[in-house]
Amino acid sequence: MTPVVSRDSPLRGLLGGKTATVLADQLGIHTVDDLLGHYPRRYAERGELTDLASLRVGDEVTIIARVRSVSQRRMRNKRGTLTDVVVGDGRRSLSLVFFNQPWRAKQLAVGVSGLFAGKIGVRGTQVQLTHPECEIFGATTAGLDPDIDPGALVDDSERAMTYASKLIPVYPASRGMPSWTIARCLRLILDAVTDVADPLPLAMRERRGLIGLPQAWRKIHQPESLAEVELARLRLKWDEAVTVQVTLAQRRVAQAVNPAFPRAVRDGGLLDAFDARLPFVLTAGQRVVGAEISHELGGHRPMNRLLQGEVGSGKTVVALRAMLQVIDAGAQAAFLAPTEVLAAQHLRTLRSLLGPLGISGELGAEEHATRVTLLTGSLSAKARRAALSEAAGGAAGIVVGTHALLEESVQFAELGLVVIDEQHRFGVEQRDVLRAKSAAPPHVLVLTATPIPRTVAMTVYGDLETTTLTEVPAGRAEVTTRVVPTQEQPAWLDRAWTRIVEEAHTGGRSFIVCPRIGDDAGTGKNAAGRIDDGDDSSFSGSQDDSLLEDEEAVSAKRAPLAVLDVADRLREGPLAGLRLAILHGRLPAEEKDTTMLAFAAGDLDALVTTTVVEVGVDVPEASVMAIMDADRFGVSQLHQLRGRIGRGSRPGICLLVTDSPAESPARLRLDAVAATRDGFELARVDLASRREGNILGAAQSGRRSGLRLLSLLDDEAIITQAREEATYLVALDPDLAQHRALAAEVARLSEDDRADYLDKA
Ligand code: ADP
Ligand code: MG
Repeated sequence: MTPVVSRDSPLRGLLGGKTATVLADQLGIHTVDDLLGHYPRRYAERGELTDLASLRVGDEVTIIARVRSVSQRRMRNKRGTLTDVVVGDGRRSLSLVFFNQPWRAKQLAVGVSGLFAGKIGVRGTQVQLTHPECEIFGATTAGLDPDIDPGALVDDSERAMTYASKLIPVYPASRGMPSWTIARCLRLILDAVTDVADPLPLAMRERRGLIGLPQAWRKIHQPESLAEVELARLRLKWDEAVTVQVTLAQRRVAQAVNPAFPRAVRDGGLLDAFDARLPFVLTAGQRVVGAEISHELGGHRPMNRLLQGEVGSGKTVVALRAMLQVIDAGAQAAFLAPTEVLAAQHLRTLRSLLGPLGISGELGAEEHATRVTLLTGSLSAKARRAALSEAAGGAAGIVVGTHALLEESVQFAELGLVVIDEQHRFGVEQRDVLRAKSAAPPHVLVLTATPIPRTVAMTVYGDLETTTLTEVPAGRAEVTTRVVPTQEQPAWLDRAWTRIVEEAHTGGRSFIVCPRIGDDAGTGKNAAGRIDDGDDSSFSGSQDDSLLEDEEAVSAKRAPLAVLDVADRLREGPLAGLRLAILHGRLPAEEKDTTMLAFAAGDLDALVTTTVVEVGVDVPEASVMAIMDADRFGVSQLHQLRGRIGRGSRPGICLLVTDSPAESPARLRLDAVAATRDGFELARVDLASRREGNILGAAQSGRRSGLRLLSLLDDEAIITQAREEATYLVALDPDLAQHRALAAEVARLSEDDRADYLDKA
């Protein structure tokens, strides 16, 4: 009787015990599904030898080569033998070295070809693999590797079959678990899962031209041709896309179950009073988006909307107008910011936009006035009590805060709208906590600081409807961006400083941005060149960490420039005589405020700063921004930073200072930023330069990122179509009662911590 094998069956019991242990310990593969989802990295063609010129020292490799010569000698000092097998690709050679394995000379006879796996090392001028794993083509028991778990896996017929096909899958492997052993384990498992139920309904497969799942597994692991691999990949990408989209569709359905309390526009209220005192006219985009939101707020269906927009497109005003509509309808709004600095900035912005309309109960307040209250973790006990009571009593129309707003002690008289400033993502869970603070689900408006590509919106924010604000208010100045390559054009940097001095003399103001604060030699925490900004690290280092980690090897050459050092050098050197100050997250909140206000008021000419200025700083006279070590920042971060200048009528110039060489990946990213101010275009560049797992905010390891084959950048068509299919399917069968296999797949995804980006509720 054959055991019943399901996708969730543990491999232990199906494979030899030692094999199962090694797979689990070294590759994190525990179940049948884990193994089936361990896709080949590439396919080698039998008869074709690996180009040995491409090998680099330190690489873990699996190569195909042919034995050219074998020599064996006794070692001088130690007892034993040393076997040196030279393999080649026809031009270059590689030495395989074995100690005390004299039988290797017979196994690896001249002319034999096979697979060899190990870590590339060097001895003298010769590259070598020491004790590589070996797999000889052709059935020969002489090639039996005693290290491989015998189990049921290795016998001659098995071996002959493995290489009957022209394409040899090359798997991400590890020491003790070479690629070909993985292939053999798969051979065994593939035969046991031919009857597994297909999660994608037949009708959907037929509509979309997809092969069955067991067939897809077979074709990706044992393809006859690359065309088969493509068919398999398409099908398996669909699995990923549909599972994610069904999860999101179910969430949308669940959110729509409890009706919201409608907050329709009220004429002659606070919103009208605000509009009347706005110093500018709304852009066409702001009006359209505003009307859409206003309409939704007036309905019974809870709004769940993502408002994304170009830097400087005026999202804050749109959000504020939505909040005022809700206040007019007798409810309150919560405005959630990712950090204390940003919360304080939002508070200032909202208060200044509202003017006398935002100071109810104080001198000079106008008739319809409301109150804007701050609630963060660092408030004094007294201030906190006051804020809590304004929220609970309803005196505060708007409560601006950080995560502190999520605490249980925070109550609202009537919460009607939650606005989330999504510089750092608040998960579904956190949105749910806020929702739970009112009887009926409040409306939710999420603002993104950076435009995100459609596919990311559909995947990461798939439970939200999206609205886009592309237009930037008219009358904004031009901003020119230049790369300043200090290696090739050292004189350009001097010109940059001269420009900053000239600017100061004509009333302009400048930012000099550095990746690091400095003065942290003792902590060593910045040794890797990580962007860090003290208490603001939760956003300054946010999404771009991944990028930096990828390049650690390159950027470790020197520590990135630091605010404190650069400020000292500029004060004594090129910017001597200017009124210069520093700004970073480790400064006390008061000092930060004073400095920003002085800069805004024109009492300072230049700020040497970290990414603290990335968001929300609004100084119309700021016209120059020099970003030092610009290659240490991510694309979207640079775009955000650049959004801080050219906000008035003064044309802006943004200088991306870097010592990265021309044509290097870092430099190409900077060139892309210099080439366009279109945030959507840059979002694509950003996406392309990152590992997908990190966009999704999943675990560090790129390979284990929930989405294994699906690319958010390249698979837009699949994602869009899968979303249609999922929406349709969930509308007919919300609990997936008729789709058991798919339900299991969805459950598997939500248990999988690789899919953290989905913030399962
Ligand atoms: P972002 O979308 O980047 O958050 P903000 O909301 O901070 O943009 O707006 C940027 C600046 O533009 C602010 O100073 C804001 O007051 C101003 N602003 C917003 N809407 C308009 C408009 N329609 N006309 C002119 N200025 C505007
Ligand atoms: Mg903003």
